[in-house]
Amino acid sequence: MDKYKQHFFNNIRTKLEQWESLSEITNEEVYRFLHSLAGTSSIIGLQKIGDKARVLMEQLDETSDRKWTFEEVKRYLIEIIEDCYEYEEGINTSLTKSKVRNSNEPVLLIIDDDTSFLMFLKEKLEAIGWYVVAIANPEKAILSFYDVRPDCVIIDIYMNEKNGFEVLEFLKQKLKQQFIPTVMVSVEKEKSIRMKSYEMGADDFIHKPFELDEFIVRIKRQLERKKQIDELLLLDELTHVYNRKYLKQAYAQVQNEWKRSKEDYSLAVLDIDYFKKVNDRFGHLVGDVVLKEFANILKRETRIKDIVFRYGGEEFVILFPKTNVDEAMEVLNRLRENFSQYVFHQEESFSCTFSAGVVQILDATKPFEKWLELADQALYEAKNNGRNRIEQADKPKVMQHQKTVKMAIVDDDPIIRTVMADIIKKLPLNPKRKIELQTYKDGKAFIQSDWHLGDPCFVILDGVMPNMDGLEVLTNLKSKKDANRYRVLMLTSRKGDQDIAKALELGADDYMTKPFKFDEIIGRIEKMLQRMM
Ligand code: GH3
Ligand code: MG
Ligand code: MG
Repeated sequence: MDKYKQHFFNNIRTKLEQWESLSEITNEEVYRFLHSLAGTSSIIGLQKIGDKARVLMEQLDETSDRKWTFEEVKRYLIEIIEDCYEYEEGINTSLTKSKVRNSNEPVLLIIDDDTSFLMFLKEKLEAIGWYVVAIANPEKAILSFYDVRPDCVIIDIYMNEKNGFEVLEFLKQKLKQQFIPTVMVSVEKEKSIRMKSYEMGADDFIHKPFELDEFIVRIKRQLERKKQIDELLLLDELTHVYNRKYLKQAYAQVQNEWKRSKEDYSLAVLDIDYFKKVNDRFGHLVGDVVLKEFANILKRETRIKDIVFRYGGEEFVILFPKTNVDEAMEVLNRLRENFSQYVFHQEESFSCTFSAGVVQILDATKPFEKWLELADQALYEAKNNGRNRIEQADKPKVMQHQKTVKMAIVDDDPIIRTVMADIIKKLPLNPKRKIELQTYKDGKAFIQSDWHLGDPCFVILDGVMPNMDGLEVLTNLKSKKDANRYRVLMLTSRKGDQDIAKALELGADDYMTKPFKFDEIIGRIEKMLQRMM
């Protein structure tokens, strides 16, 4: 890029930084700024920016004494700032053309302490439309397993900190109840290593180095197998109650019955209280024990006609045939009592509770989702009212329980900050989450701020910054007692391969190399947010 353009973009940066520190900006300032943009940009060959500046300028009343906030100015100028970003980074796509990536893409978890191998595979596999979570630290991989919910796990056998076989063993323990294919990779040529992998239950073994096309075909077969098996199963394999897929079929039966008999049906959604704490305190295997026992109690203590489903994670659904909402409340309250008195004997004894929302299905010709939503709202009311309780969705309520997620953009470049903030503001609305956004000019300002304490926090982190760079920030976050609360997406430049490797070693949750396309960032942020819910 020639030096005039560089100078032009730097002027915009300086202006943005200057405005950022002001509580109000005069109309004249905004007008003059657009005026100078319109003048300069066409001369130095940035016609598109010049045209936009002119249009925006003409929409303003030059003589008005309006005062602007920085937010208002950014919103007004966003298209120009986006163009600057795209031009500087050499990207031709525009935000309006972008679409969020397919959310059904398979999710792969790759565990390997060789970060260059991780980076290589991630890039190649994402290019064919798979979503890859690359983790260099096996301990972290095990912990993140429940949030990632991969469709296939690829494990390197020799790692420094933990042997790949130990990871496989953990997964197999867990996967006894759930089919997720595991593929071992290793440079080792000895037959005994292959034999051990297969004996331990690995679904495939691939030598390194391998040819990429063969690797992809072999993984693809595993993904297809997983899909087929998932489609066959109607029972949840961990808890042995019905799964979510069967819930659809069961409701279809309810609809048939209802047409004939018009009998009462009720539906409840149950969710274990503070289940995350059980996992955090005792580990996921103990968490699984709680889930199994919870499911047992639900099956044992409901009536024969009631049907129990695991809806996902620690959420269960019960369908009560021939039951009005008061009768369902009675059953649920009995369950609640029993479960809260149940004592788990692990390394320490502890108990759990659950909350639930219940709704009477007044008209079974309506879609299932409607009832589920009402029950869900009642559930969140139960959570808000203190947990360990059942609420009834008698009247449709607007109130929704929202999980707050803080999102921080830490980047020294005001153009990136502005563009990123805009992307986040335009994320699809999700009634279950509330995003609070803050931007920081450098790592130190972010680390020293107490804004991000308490809630889950998603950090979009620039690698190179003055004062305290991204890697230092990452190190700092990951050494916190509640490091779990943070998810970090690193932004690095193409040349920064070393930095990416380091970031992965330090436990970054994902990374993107500049220049990035808007649709890629949106897809990635959305995926990571979902994993935080
Ligand atoms: P709340 O009272 O608001 O429901 O809090 P919570 O901690 O129960 O809720 P949240 O939804 O934040 O956490 C649920 C956790 O359940 C997150 C996830 O890691 C964990 N989880 C999901 N599926 C499984 C599983 O199969 N086994 C184990 N052990 N944990 C799981
Ligand atoms: Mg819960
Ligand atoms: Mg939950």
